[in-house]
Order: sequence, then C-alpha cells, then structure tokens
Amino acid sequence: MLIKSLTVRNFRNIASADFIFDPKVNIFTGNNAQGKTNLCEAISVCFGKSFRNPRTKELLPFGDHDCETAVELCFTFDNMPDKENTITYTQKNSTFRLKFNGIEMKDAEKLYGALRYVIFIPEDLYIVKGDPSARRDYIDFVSNMINRVHISKLNEYNKALRQKNNILMNSREWDGAAAMMIDSWNDTIARTGVNVMCGRIRYFDMLSEAADKYYGMINSADEKLTMKYESTITDGAPFGVDDPMGLYEMYRAKLRETAEKELRMKYTVVGAHRDDISFCINNMPAKDFASQGQIRSIAVALKLAEAEMICGKSDDIPIIILDDVLSELDEYRRSFIINHIDKFQIFITSCNLSDTEKFGHGKIWDVKNGSFELKEA
Ligand code: ATP
Ligand code: MG
Repeated sequence: MLIKSLTVRNFRNIASADFIFDPKVNIFTGNNAQGKTNLCEAISVCFGKSFRNPRTKELLPFGDHDCETAVELCFTFDNMPDKENTITYTQKNSTFRLKFNGIEMKDAEKLYGALRYVIFIPEDLYIVKGDPSARRDYIDFVSNMINRVHISKLNEYNKALRQKNNILMNSREWDGAAAMMIDSWNDTIARTGVNVMCGRIRYFDMLSEAADKYYGMINSADEKLTMKYESTITDGAPFGVDDPMGLYEMYRAKLRETAEKELRMKYTVVGAHRDDISFCINNMPAKDFASQGQIRSIAVALKLAEAEMICGKSDDIPIIILDDVLSELDEYRRSFIINHIDKFQIFITSCNLSDTEKFGHGKIWDVKNGSFELKEA
C-alpha cells in the first residue's frame, strides 16, 4: 500500500497538520517531546489500533476534552494504484468512529488485519535483550500475523496450563488424586503445546532467513545473524511440523521426566511457555555480548523480515514506521535505513538533525511543538 496523504486535527499535541507523503521515504525530525511519536500513533489509529494501547480519552488534547479529534488517511492498494481509499478516525470524548471509504467499521480490529503495517518502537529492543517472554510474545505475534488461528491455539494451551498449575499449587507430593488429574491435563497440554510449537516454527525459518539477509545489509562489517528456536521439550534440538505425533510423544516424556520437579516448584517447568529464541552474531549470543547498535540492528532486521513475510502472504506491500530507530546506529547503518530500504514506503522519526545530511530523496519535516514544517530534501 501507499499512503498518499494525511490530515490530523486535535490529536494529542498536534492541533492541525496536513501531509502529502513521498512514496518512498518520509522523515520527521525534531527535539524530544515535540510530536513525532504522536504522528506515528495518528497513522496507527487509522489502521485500527494505536501501538501505544492508550485509553481512548488520552488521545484528546490536554485540557480540551470537548473538541473533536479527526485523522484522515488517503492511500492506495498496490494492485489498484489509481483508486484512492480513505480512512477516517473521529473521536468525541471517549467515543470514536472509524470509517473506510465512508462506511463505518464496527470492528476496528478487522481493519488492523486487512491493512498491514510494520512498526519499530524503541520497546522492540526488548525482543532481543529482554526476558524470554518478550521473544515468545513476538514469535506468537508474527505467527498470528501470518496464520490467524495461532492465538486461539495459544489460548487453549494457556488455559490447560493454568488449570494444571492450579492443581500443582494445591497438591502435595503424595497426593494420588492430584497426580491423576495432572496426568490428564498433561495430555491436553502436550496436544495443545505441540500446536503452539508447530505454529511458531512453521514460519520461523522464513523469518530468520529474511532477518539474516537484512542484518547483513544493515551492517558494514562481516557480521552474521543466526536465530534459533530453543525448545525445552527437545532440549534445543531442531524440530519440524511434519511429525506432530513424534513431538507429542517427546512432550509427554518430558513432562513425565520433570514431574517430580514441578511438584516441588508448583508449576509446569517445561513446554511451549518456557521456550525461547536465541539471536547470535557470529555465533555469540546477542543478549550477552551484542553492543547497543547491534541489538538495535537486529530489531530493525526483524521488522524488515516481518514486512517481507507480509509481502509473501498478501498482494500488498506493507508500509513501515520506524520510530526513533536511528539513535545508537553508526553512519553506515543509518544511511542504509534512510537510503536503501527501497521496497517499502517508510516513515522515520529522529531527534538528530544530522540524520538528514546525507539524504538525497524523499521528504523531511521539522517537528516543533506539534507543528510540522516541510523542508526541502
Ligand atoms: P521523543 O523524541 O522524546 O520520542 P516525540 O517528539 O516523539 O519525542 P511525543 O511522544 O510525540 O514526542 O510527545 C510529544 C508531546 O506530546 C509530549 O510532551 C507529550 O507529553 C505530549 N502529549 C502526549 N499526550 C498528549 C495529549 N493528549 N495532549 C497534549 N499533549 C500530549
Ligand atoms: Mg518519540
């Protein structure tokens, strides 16, 4: 898709702003707290959901809760470049309306599924350097983006896990009745756990191949990124989707093996909820050894890989929003992001004016106190 234009009225600190975008690169530069991320958020609400997950009222300008917020985004789909579509987001008090070509969308989430965009926010660095749960959430998000049943499979698994953990919490080691109930839950956990693991691994190789490709393009040195899905069921050994029965047997055996430990710990110590993803640069674990710039580069490579996966799944090329992506990156890496991601229309925010020095195309806006001034490229 291509975003042609945007108008924003009374959205957080942006009173009024109008944009006609470049089909490739759009940069918003300015000091901290001027409205750059607010603008990214204004785009995201038109896609059905703010990435900040705010309470709706928080989008209204401070101290002016009676005004109407209005954001209008015009775009074309890649397979119909001559037909302009419009999404309007309007909000009064806590009530908002989202319209697609004038027709009200009752289910905003549907729009979120249909209009694909990829966003990098600084919090995404936790995918690389944070707890395993951040990585599991990420891989579940990507798996669900490609296959919409993944989250329901995960919910089934988590429900069974909660039930079993409740029994573990309330049982003692010699409790025979509890042991029978636990065994029965283990069957459900192994069955649903296999679904979750297969759902994750089905697209994992594609994601990791694309991330490795982009990581190689971002860095100037000879650095290689490798990603690995590390399962507590297979002790880190690779597995595929072609033998779910074999994986189920392994799951059951692992649960039997750890039964004593989980009775002591009072929770299930192995399974899809304990799996992790490792990122290595030249075979060294990124979590322990990577520099800030390398961690950021991995996160960006992942986002570009995500976009590439969307391209493979639909006719439409997603747009990419990169909020505050350039800090901590050296000139080579910054220049790649600004000048060489030519497959996608990108929107970049940055605090640093020198980001624009080597910028030979696209459009740049100066952002000051919620106002946007277009500069010559
Ligand atoms: P940084 O470079 O630090 O990320 P930024 O330009 O991205 O800064 P934003 O997050 O867009 O900054 O926020 C800009 C300003 O908008 C902040 O000072 C914030 O307090 C303010 N702001 C947030 N919500 C509202 C609101 N509802 N009404 C008015 N101002 C708001
Ligand atoms: Mg910001």
